[in-house]
Amino acid sequence: MNYSIAVIPGDGIGPEIIGEAKKILEKVGSVFGHEFLYTEVLMGGVSIDAHGVPLTEEALETAKNSDSVLLGAVGGDVGNSRWYDVAPHLRPEAGLLAIRKGLNLFANIRPAYLYKELSEACPLKKEIIGDGFDMVIMRELTGGLYFGDRFTREIDGVRTAVDTLTYNENEIRRIAIKAFDIAMKRRKQVISVDKANVLDSSRLWRNVVEEVAKDYPEVTLTHMLVDNCAMQLVMNPGQFDVILTENMFGDILSDEASMITGSIGMLSSASMNESKFGMYEPSHGSAPDIAGKNIANPIATILSAAMMLRYSFDLDQEADAVEGAVEKVLSEGWRTGDIMSKGCRQVSTTEMGDLIAGKIL
Ligand code: NAD
Repeated sequence: MNYSIAVIPGDGIGPEIIGEAKKILEKVGSVFGHEFLYTEVLMGGVSIDAHGVPLTEEALETAKNSDSVLLGAVGGDVGNSRWYDVAPHLRPEAGLLAIRKGLNLFANIRPAYLYKELSEACPLKKEIIGDGFDMVIMRELTGGLYFGDRFTREIDGVRTAVDTLTYNENEIRRIAIKAFDIAMKRRKQVISVDKANVLDSSRLWRNVVEEVAKDYPEVTLTHMLVDNCAMQLVMNPGQFDVILTENMFGDILSDEASMITGSIGMLSSASMNESKFGMYEPSHGSAPDIAGKNIANPIATILSAAMMLRYSFDLDQEADAVEGAVEKVLSEGWRTGDIMSKGCRQVSTTEMGDLIAGKIL
């Protein structure tokens, strides 16, 4: 099969880590008989330099006309870069918001997986980690408190701020369907997180999620209050498979879940719309402090490419091969500097990409 991918290297370490992800896709293509056709798109600081804006209409159109998007990272050194001497809507990160909006990416998927080999980096105690954890947080990305009406005004002589949390059933249904679809590819458990003991929006959330669950008899659905979930993540992370939640709860919980893995260079992510279309990117930023040195960890981007194979192209076997290759390379003791530990061997960005590609057979 042929798949068209809009590739956005972006700024900082973006081009280096994207180069390694493409290396892996090429290897997957040759082993499994697929062709990946790339169109390079400018976004972020490099687009500001070329066109004066962080994302052009043409760039967005190219992304829309592809089967999926693979993104490195955008942004520069916020304190020092000329890219930040302009209005906020012209800064590099505005490109990110514009492309998410332009592609209607309402579902954010962030896995938190603890590699046995990296468990030293996990801030939790060994008895809590147990056999490790492997979860995915499915966060609604375009509704809720961050997008509702808001104002600050004086009411009866008192400064008062109002933020509005709104969800309609369609917004809830479409993200719930995504979560159940992904659970079907995993251990078939969804924990829906809300605050139904207080919020009307959470009660509607719960009702609609239960309606959707009827179409997935193989998936076990449970509900958990968000405050309990925040505790459970650090008390018993192994219990979670897919966590489904609204925008603000997901913002907080996905950071908590990713931090208990302890390794920023390992964390992949995806944002999807109603179709199979998705934008895949590492959870970290453009790391300007280490850009151009061939020392960045490319694994988060490589694992994001694996998510693309699984969720946009339904190539589960190929995704397994990439994830398995990462695991093998780590178990042999190869590390980039950020995840280096005693007794391991340190390699560069490109060497790490070569090692992983070499394990895809
Ligand atoms: P960052 O994630 O870029 O870096 C934080 C720290 O982690 C740095 O010390 C960096 O060297 C290290 N790091 C990050 N990724 C790494 C990797 N793959 N391998 C090894 N080390 C890695 O966050 P920041 O410093 O807050 O932001 C830098 C720039 O990135 C800013 O301009 C910010 O706006 C932008 N940013 C972009 C995105 C995105 O494109 N999605 C996300 C977050 C931040």
